[in-house]
Amino acid sequence: MPRPLIAEAARETVAAMRAGGLNGLDPVALCRQKAEERLRSGCRGAINATGVLLHTGLGRAPLCKAAQERVSSLHHASVEIELDTGRRGDRQAHCRWLLQRLTGCEDALIVNNNAAAVFLTIRTLAAGREAIVSRGQLIEIGGSFRLPDIIEQAGARMREVGTTNKTRIEDYERAINDQTALILRCHPSNFKIEGFTEEASISELSELARSRGIPLMDDAGSGCLIDTRRYGLPHEPTLQESLKANVVTASGDKLIGGPQAGLILGGKEIVSKLAANPLMRALRPGAITLAALEATLETYLYSENPVDEIPIWRMILESQESLRKKARRLKTGLPIVDTVAAIGGGALPGLSLPSVGLQASDSQADEVARKLRSLDPPVFPRIVDGKAILDLRSMTEGEIEALPWALKGL
Ligand SMILES: *Cc1c(COP(=O)(O)O)cnc(C)c1O
Repeated sequence: MPRPLIAEAARETVAAMRAGGLNGLDPVALCRQKAEERLRSGCRGAINATGVLLHTGLGRAPLCKAAQERVSSLHHASVEIELDTGRRGDRQAHCRWLLQRLTGCEDALIVNNNAAAVFLTIRTLAAGREAIVSRGQLIEIGGSFRLPDIIEQAGARMREVGTTNKTRIEDYERAINDQTALILRCHPSNFKIEGFTEEASISELSELARSRGIPLMDDAGSGCLIDTRRYGLPHEPTLQESLKANVVTASGDKLIGGPQAGLILGGKEIVSKLAANPLMRALRPGAITLAALEATLETYLYSENPVDEIPIWRMILESQESLRKKARRLKTGLPIVDTVAAIGGGALPGLSLPSVGLQASDSQADEVARKLRSLDPPVFPRIVDGKAILDLRSMTEGEIEALPWALKGL
């Protein structure tokens, strides 16, 4: 046990003893517990048994093997130097090359996350002027990403059009004036309006934008590179489809299945403008991010069957029967139950995936969940009807293998 941890735990324990707050606990055991807790804290491996595949609290998409290996190969890295000339190069060049081939985009830029991509794009294209957005697309995602706040912080004025459930192309047309700098379309991500709904299509919007000479931005959110219909899933717009817009933003760690990053795709003129914004220096990705993203995108471009190699797609597409077989093979002694998993991360909202889980408790779920989190690696279950369930669909192959071993500590 590292000395600084023992010293701090001892000091805290002595303080608790002085305050008479030990309540009969053994001070040595308390001291050990405090030091052990600290030793295990921070960002490290965990088992996602929540049944939510893209869980922001658990790091969203797990990296594919190629990305993991690329990252662990880094010490110094050729992040911003040209191999043939030995001169200073462009850290974005290879990602751009990959994205051009994967999506057909003219130009591309990588930033730290999609929130940064959205911010930089609105700031550069619409600061001091108006951005038109549909009332049905004014989303909040996670804790603090609220589109109206981002637009305001970017220095643009939001011009809402349409209604909560219906926005037509004429609504956009009427709102255009000499202050209009941007038409902003946003993937509704984590909600779905049912019933009588209407949104202008990306084709209609792109036609309108072109005829009025105003750029159209599409915040695609999860940034899919796969045609989901080929696998019997509902349609999730791909980046290729989003490129009907002049500029597209997306996350790297949702359906792309890479590291946390923001992707900006679009025409040369717009992307060069964004790249030239001094803010770019504050938003640029580091070597670890670029290495992981490049290896992920290379997997899409070079592999015969990328969905087999990108963990998020393997997890989405695996059959319930195959999960059931794995559950039986684990021989944990826990009852095997049917569950319902979700993709999460604002991708394919409302879609439920039939799944299989191990029932870790039939009561006192909170207490069992606390115990599961104290294991090494910690296990994060889902609580359903007061029971703690370990859903297999959100676990990677490695997590499933580690599960019986982790559960021994229960
Ligand atoms: C997830 C999401 C964001 C935010 O992306 P981060 O990668 O979390 O920064 C923005 N817009 C949409 C539509 C999203 O789905």
